[in-house]
Amino acid sequence: MQPLVFHNGHVLTGRGFEPEVCVVVEDGHIVAVLHGDPPGGGVRIDLGGGYLAPGFIDIQVNGGGGVLFNNAPSVEGIAAIARAHRRFGTTGFLPTLISDDAAVMHRAIAATRQAIAQGMPGVLGLHLEGPYLAPARKGTHDAGRFRVPDADEIAMATALDNGVTLITLAPERVPTESIRALAARGAIVCAGHTDASYEQMCAGFAAGIRGVTHLYNAMTPLQGREPGVVGAALDDENCWCGIIVDGVHVHPASLRIALAAKPRGKLLLVTDAMPMVGAASPSFALYGETITARDGVVRNAAGALAGSALDMASAVRNAVRLLGLGLDEACRMAAQYPAEFLGLGSSHGRIAPGYRADLVWLDANAQVRATWIAGRAEA
Ligand code: ZN
Repeated sequence: MQPLVFHNGHVLTGRGFEPEVCVVVEDGHIVAVLHGDPPGGGVRIDLGGGYLAPGFIDIQVNGGGGVLFNNAPSVEGIAAIARAHRRFGTTGFLPTLISDDAAVMHRAIAATRQAIAQGMPGVLGLHLEGPYLAPARKGTHDAGRFRVPDADEIAMATALDNGVTLITLAPERVPTESIRALAARGAIVCAGHTDASYEQMCAGFAAGIRGVTHLYNAMTPLQGREPGVVGAALDDENCWCGIIVDGVHVHPASLRIALAAKPRGKLLLVTDAMPMVGAASPSFALYGETITARDGVVRNAAGALAGSALDMASAVRNAVRLLGLGLDEACRMAAQYPAEFLGLGSSHGRIAPGYRADLVWLDANAQVRATWIAGRAEA
């Protein structure tokens, strides 16, 4: 394969978006980031004055392209979700299974393993959001499927051996030794859909919890005498926080408070996307109930938010608009920081020599023009 030479754009380097920088890609990796004129040879890709950023990494994707992972825990289902989100700049993601029966979890894990083994572009692992959650904070999850994991279940939930496993659980519902066991088996454990107290959350951190899932949503709020999960997450400098920046799930003022409270690099954009992203239909079935997005808001019949209709490029633009961030930092929150959270920070999420050539080309309005995964444009 000939080298690719990206030029005539602004490239997100360690110094922000820099003009007059070109990027050379060979064999799926970035081999050079050069100032000045592009070198001779290779296939030239003219960025037309736009922006070249590391491809977005989304750690919470329930569905896309009309497919809900829970309803299609298969290689084909993952492929459809990957295609749908790639149009919006996502070049790495965790298909996310919400609370379900052990048999469905087993199929989801097997499908993820197979997708990665066959080199499906963009699949980095999977996210098991539940079923070890708190009924009081269930959101749209089916509390009838909630349970406490025993040793067999811990082994099953951490069985993926060729990608990342992220597990969201309620620390007050899972014994600390079980949280420890999940972390010891390599899972990244986050708290979410949790009614935990601040003290229970701190015990969870000590047992290996590394972050929280969709900060502010489905967790105990911050109050003066009771900091809750939100207070624990904002106060602990090591805690990573996924956050849904769609202007619906979290008030812009609360978003800005989180940004101010957290050390740089600990706040991650997630979509929590449902099947309507990249699909013609605004409706899908969840646990047998038909759910429809109205004005971009996804709710179940009981009125609970049921994920989002957000795509990652929109999340990046929203972060600029609602958080007052530069496009460079918004892109880092969608790429570099999630890569670091997943333990992939030395291979993914940056434009630098040696990194994978997972790239997104944005126009002047931060709309996606094209993506590359391991140097390959979308077929
Ligand atoms: Zn959730």
